[in-house]
Amino acid sequence: KTLETIAGLDLPTNVDNPLYLHFNENSLGLSPKAKKAIVDVLSNVNRYPESHINELLATIADTFKVEKQQITIGSGSSDIIRGLINMQGYLAAQAGKKIQLISPEPSFSLAAEHASAMGIKVVNVPLDKNFCMDIATMKNIADAFDGLSICYLCNPNNPTGTLTSTQTIADWITQADATKNFFMVDEAYAEYITDPAFVSGTSFIRENRNNVIVLRTFSKLFAMAGMRLGFSISTEATAKALSPFMAIENISSTTAVAGTASLLDKAYINESKAMNTHSLKITTELFDQIDIKYLESHGNFLFHQIKCEPELYTAEMKKEGIIVGRPFPPLTYWSRVTLGTTEEMNKFLSVIKKFKKKGWV
Ligand code: PLP
Repeated sequence: KTLETIAGLDLPTNVDNPLYLHFNENSLGLSPKAKKAIVDVLSNVNRYPESHINELLATIADTFKVEKQQITIGSGSSDIIRGLINMQGYLAAQAGKKIQLISPEPSFSLAAEHASAMGIKVVNVPLDKNFCMDIATMKNIADAFDGLSICYLCNPNNPTGTLTSTQTIADWITQADATKNFFMVDEAYAEYITDPAFVSGTSFIRENRNNVIVLRTFSKLFAMAGMRLGFSISTEATAKALSPFMAIENISSTTAVAGTASLLDKAYINESKAMNTHSLKITTELFDQIDIKYLESHGNFLFHQIKCEPELYTAEMKKEGIIVGRPFPPLTYWSRVTLGTTEEMNKFLSVIKKFKKKGWV
């Protein structure tokens, strides 16, 4: 059985408008400014998207205080993750070097899955006792390897929502042999972080490290999952090395203008963050009240314990019209719920109360 089958994603729902709380999307919907930009650009989509992509690059560069040449655009950050693994696999083969990918587990598994499909050895490292990335073990595995290690770091981590100390990560990256370690720092949920101790991986790029790349996406806070837009920030040299592994003009004009408008729409960004903060608050308050264990979340989702088989939990949620995240082995008796609107969370929480009475949570 696939994890999707266990999550009941293929089961029919018996309600008209199920709640989609399973993919960490943003229920608020697209920024109104982005919607307008999409409509406005339609009269121009007979032309290639170059000028709109350039504008997007300039806006990202301005936002992150980097040069345009340091940015790589992808059809979602997944696209860049694949491009990076293909690039490293190719470079290692050319140089006759061994290569492996080290990934936390559970985590966003695309890097590991794609590496494996490309014949690259994958070493999964379980999270530590605090459900954070076990950086010490990841480092030991990289140090003991006589080839190139692609080190996939996901901070905050999906599905746990936990934040790994950025100081611990910095200690590794700044001491690591750059010829043996390539760091992919996936910050898909970084916009939601409120912890003042968090330092973005982009700080390593400002130190000119060619062996670090930071991945960001418009699929989460910016509600553009269906538009497909992600980007990376690296040194110019790394962006240049990556470019043959990415398609040229790989996003549409509509996606590019929506990205630019969303990045500039401060009111929307604040509304989106406020919705998340409130949904997290009401959800954790009820969980505390009825004694459901959860992990401190730094993203737009909450990872919490369940007390029944995950198949039963997801199927029963689906019967109630709520689709929640799939199981994330080896953390079997856990579930991930996306933080939606207040209305959606109230519906979810009313079902959770029923589930509590049945002993399922
Ligand atoms: N990275 C992480 C940690 C994610 O959770 C996701 C999506 O869930 C992605 C990357 C992929 O995002 P995109 O839609 O940009 O491909």
